[in-house]
Amino acid sequence: MAENKKIWLSSPHMSDEGYEMQYVQEAFDTNWVAPLGPNVNEFEKELAAKVGSKHAAAMTSGTGAIHLALKAAGVGEGDIVFCPTLTFSATANPIIYQNATPVFIDSDYETWNMDPKALEAAFEKYGDKVKAVLVVHLYGLSADMDKIMGICSSYNVTVIEDAAESLGAYYKGKHTGTFGEFGVFSFNGNKIITTSGGGMLVSNDEVKIKKVRFWSTQSRDAARHYQHSELGFNYRMSNIVAGIGRGQLKVLEQRVAKKKYIFEFYMKELGDLEGVDFMPINDWNEPNYWLSVMTLKGNVSPTEVMEALEEENIESRPVWKPMHMQPFFAEYDYVGSDVSEQLFANGVCLPSDTKMTDEDLERICSIIKGLWSK
Ligand SMILES: *Cc1c(COP(=O)(O)O)cnc(C)c1O
Repeated sequence: MAENKKIWLSSPHMSDEGYEMQYVQEAFDTNWVAPLGPNVNEFEKELAAKVGSKHAAAMTSGTGAIHLALKAAGVGEGDIVFCPTLTFSATANPIIYQNATPVFIDSDYETWNMDPKALEAAFEKYGDKVKAVLVVHLYGLSADMDKIMGICSSYNVTVIEDAAESLGAYYKGKHTGTFGEFGVFSFNGNKIITTSGGGMLVSNDEVKIKKVRFWSTQSRDAARHYQHSELGFNYRMSNIVAGIGRGQLKVLEQRVAKKKYIFEFYMKELGDLEGVDFMPINDWNEPNYWLSVMTLKGNVSPTEVMEALEEENIESRPVWKPMHMQPFFAEYDYVGSDVSEQLFANGVCLPSDTKMTDEDLERICSIIKGLWSK
C-alpha cells in the first residue's frame, strides 16, 4: 500500500490546529488582503520576541532581506564582503546586487560553517576594504559566533547573519541571527516554517529597520504626491502571507522537536554503517536540525544513496555546491582549503520532512542499509 508513497526532503507543514487559516480568514473578513496591515505588524513583533531581537521588518523573501541588510550596512561599489563558500547562492547574490565584491571563506569540520581561521587569514589579506561579513548557520547548525564576532569586532566590520535555515536554533542559549547587527530569516516553502514565501530582517537598531521598511515600500517620501529621493524596492510582505507566518510561529518548537527526532532516528539506524558520519552537533549548539545531513567515506557514494532513494520516490539532495566552484562566482577570490569541497563531495541531505511517520523513516533506512549488504 504505502510502497511508493512520495517522501519529500522538507515540505510545508501547516499546524493541525489550523492557526494559519484563522489569521488568513481574519484578513479576508476585514479586507486586509493588502497592503501591509495588522498581521504584518504582529508577525514582526512576534518573530522579534521569539528570537530576542528588538525590531523586525517583514519582507517578500530572505534574499530581499539580505539585500537590504547589506544596503543598510552601507555596502556598495568597491566594498568587499566576506561570505561562506558553503551556502545557497541566495546568500551571495545580494552582494552582487549592491555592486560589491564577494570573497568566499571555507568551512571547518567542527561547525561546517565559516572557519574562523580562514576568516582571520582573509582579513589579513583584505584589511580595510572589507565592509561586512555574512555568516550563515547552515542546515540549522550555528557557526562559532564567539570566535567570529571577536575577529569581526577587532576589524570593526558589520556582521550580518544569514539565519534563513536556522530559525529555532541557538548558540550558547542565544538565538542565531541576533549576534550581528542584522539577522535574516526565510519562510520559503521548504524552510522549518513557511509562509509560502517570505523573509524577515531583525536588528536592535530601530532607525535602520525603519529605513529598510521605507526602501522596501518603494522609498516613498512623506509627501502627498509621489516623491522619491532614494532608490526604491518592492520587498514588503503582504498581510495574507504574514497571517500564515503568525500561525506557523506557534508550531515552531513542535517542528524543531520533530526535526531532532528525525536526526536521532538516522543516527541510531545508520550511524554504525561503515564510512558513515553525521553533521557535527557541538555542546554549545542547539540546532533546529532543519535537514539531517550524513557524510559518506566508504564503498557507498552519495550518488548511490540519492539514486536508490529516488527509485523509491523519495527525495534527497547533495550538500550545497560551494560558491567558489560555481561558474557565476568563479572570478572571485576564495580563502581556505578543501573542507567545503569535501563536504560537497561526500554529503547527502536525507529526507527531513516533519510529516514523516516512523514507518517512512524505517523505509528510508532500510533502503540505505540495503546498499551496504549488496
Ligand atoms: C533559503 C535560503 C535563503 C533565501 O531565502 P528566500 O526566502 O528563499 O529568499 C538564503 N540563504 C540560505 C542559506 C537559504 O537556505
